[in-house]
Amino acid sequence: MTSHSHEPLPQSRHIATEIPGPKSAQALARRKEAVSAGLGMAFPAVIARAEGAIMEDIDGNRIIDLGSGIGVVTVGNANPRVVSRVIEAAQAFTHTNFTTAPYLGYIEVCEALNKLTPGKFAKKSILQNSGAEAVENAIKIARHYTKRAAVVVFEHAYHGRTNLTMALTAKNMPYKEGFGPFANEIYRMPMPYAYRWTGDAATMTADALADVTHKIEKEIGAKNVAAIIIEPIQGEGGFIVPPKGFLPGLSEYATQNGIVFIADEVQTGFARTGNYFAVEDENVEPDMIVTAKGIAGGLPLAAVTARAEIMDSSHIGGLGGTYGGNPIACAAALGAMEAIAEDKLVERARQIGKILNERLTAMAAKYSVIGDVRGRGAMQAIEIVVAGSKDPNPAAMASVIKYCQAHGVLILTAGTYGNVIRFLPPLVISDELLVEALGILDDAFAAL
Ligand SMILES: *Cc1c(COP(=O)(O)O)cnc(C)c1O
Repeated sequence: MTSHSHEPLPQSRHIATEIPGPKSAQALARRKEAVSAGLGMAFPAVIARAEGAIMEDIDGNRIIDLGSGIGVVTVGNANPRVVSRVIEAAQAFTHTNFTTAPYLGYIEVCEALNKLTPGKFAKKSILQNSGAEAVENAIKIARHYTKRAAVVVFEHAYHGRTNLTMALTAKNMPYKEGFGPFANEIYRMPMPYAYRWTGDAATMTADALADVTHKIEKEIGAKNVAAIIIEPIQGEGGFIVPPKGFLPGLSEYATQNGIVFIADEVQTGFARTGNYFAVEDENVEPDMIVTAKGIAGGLPLAAVTARAEIMDSSHIGGLGGTYGGNPIACAAALGAMEAIAEDKLVERARQIGKILNERLTAMAAKYSVIGDVRGRGAMQAIEIVVAGSKDPNPAAMASVIKYCQAHGVLILTAGTYGNVIRFLPPLVISDELLVEALGILDDAFAAL
């Protein structure tokens, strides 16, 4: 199956040097000279290779990956089913442009998406290169279909870094500051964020829905709204899980008012949350679903999948792009989808979620700086606060991250208030490796 010319990378943590080691430090100095200072860096080690849930840096440190390259290598880094298909595809051809001369891989990925995404209606898809590009296309198609302009988005939302998607994204720093002017006809609605909800918890769903629909009616006019776009669990915003009933309520309101209901499943999609797609948790059938990140095992690919009549409403030539649905990325996606199905990774995401949630909940009982544990499946987060309050505590979070880095564990952060630690492990991680990484996290809190 694999065409690896090297020994498999041991699935174990190994600390060979301090992190960054001398070779990484030297390479990072070159990075500083050559690469824009506008790019951040979550983990200061330069990677030589990676497999499964382990990344090895150029100094020989083996790091446990609890981030999956931001929820991308869901099927594990360099998954053999992905790698072998990539090699085969690259040897066959590297590019034609699908709108110049088509190929089977693109068609097969669209067929798979139309089948896998929820909704018992005829669907069609298009492929792009990035989540942001797919979100842009989703909005463009919804506007063309409805002949309406307004787009409804939510507090804490993240939809990308291009001009339109910056406008859709909620958080100013670092995503928007100084990068405007932004696109118009974007309307931001309140998001029920359970941990920080100041109203009555018992009526949160009904109150939030009433608030949103009131604002739409009074401030926009429902008949002017082309689309409501929402992440079924907000990613960059801090893994905010909407209360039960909120997504079905929005979806129903959209249907009643001829609005295209778009689920941005870029981070939540492809088995991550213990379903293929997070909206399945409440049996929501969005008119349109945007996917990317976990779709192709690390290769750049994204998609818009929607009701056939919506996707077909654009004139010929209205949609496209040079690289969208590149044949090698399509082959990788078919490999990743095969891995999800045959290695039962949807089920595995649930098991990982159980382990993560139990351990994190136990830590929250011990360490009062952990204010909240939330998420679904292999998408879990903790919110770090000043003990005895809900005040964000980014300083404590930074210490914890630093400790984990020094001990070879990669974890990511998130959150509107910059105080959320999020876990997006590859679904091929073993229980042992996951528990070892969580043990180091526990030590990090103990060392605060
Ligand atoms: C990452 C992300 C995007 C943007 O995807 P890119 O591939 O980085 O352009 C959009 N929406 C959500 C929910 C995301 O998590």
